[in-house]
Amino acid sequence: MAEPSPNTIGPHPHRPDGARGMEPATDLPLAREALGVLEGAFEAFERISVSFSGAEDVVLVDLGARILGSDLPVFSLDTGRLHPETHRFMETVREHYGVTIETLAPDPDELARLVRAKGLFSFYRDGHGECCAIRKIAPLGRKLEHLDAWITGQRADQSVTREGLPIVQDDLAYSSAAHPIRKFNPLANWTGEDVWDYIRRREVPYNLLHDQGFRSIGCEPCTRPVGPHQHEREGRWWWEDIGDKECGLHAQNVVEPLRIVEP
Ligand code: SF4
Repeated sequence: MAEPSPNTIGPHPHRPDGARGMEPATDLPLAREALGVLEGAFEAFERISVSFSGAEDVVLVDLGARILGSDLPVFSLDTGRLHPETHRFMETVREHYGVTIETLAPDPDELARLVRAKGLFSFYRDGHGECCAIRKIAPLGRKLEHLDAWITGQRADQSVTREGLPIVQDDLAYSSAAHPIRKFNPLANWTGEDVWDYIRRREVPYNLLHDQGFRSIGCEPCTRPVGPHQHEREGRWWWEDIGDKECGLHAQNVVEPLRIVEP
């Protein structure tokens, strides 16, 4: 495992040009806070991984790689409906940081049953819950069976369902009495502007869809660009109510979770 970094943000250990675009830690107090959260998480849990969605939570990868280098454990849900730009971005991140990104795929039999019964766009008619359950929630659940903690890029300002989001929480959706799971949200107190300030100042790679007006990026059929005065989540599942804009990965954010693992 790579040498842990000191509690400062310095040049990236795997970039020969590491000084380029690297701001002193004192300029980025939120980044220092997030780095401290990550260091504590990695010290406390061996079976832990970063959830990378292919959108702006690449900041987590950038910070995490400063601690664990290319040993940073990262997984991503490849639903089979992502934009090509998202796949290319994941590849850019993999090469840039030298990390392995484990991609989690849906169960082919479950998927075939859904598509056979309802086609490829049933979410427009029946809501996104059923498709997300197969393409996202089930693969995540299978992954979390082998983890004791995971790290997400959720922010409190992303949605009404995420207001009051804590930095560390028990994952009520995926824990059981026999297997408690912690969830770390190191960016909980960041705004979208903070994230983009970090990305620009530190020259972190980003999904090129953001240059086309996309802000919150998920699957291709369920994501569209938003205007300058729209909330970022308005581009997700736009045909549904604002309170439904969770896919179940963070089910405890909604009053009536889409899926709860019974203890
Ligand atoms: S975001 Fe859309 S396409 Fe992706 S899993 Fe959910 S409903 Fe299916």
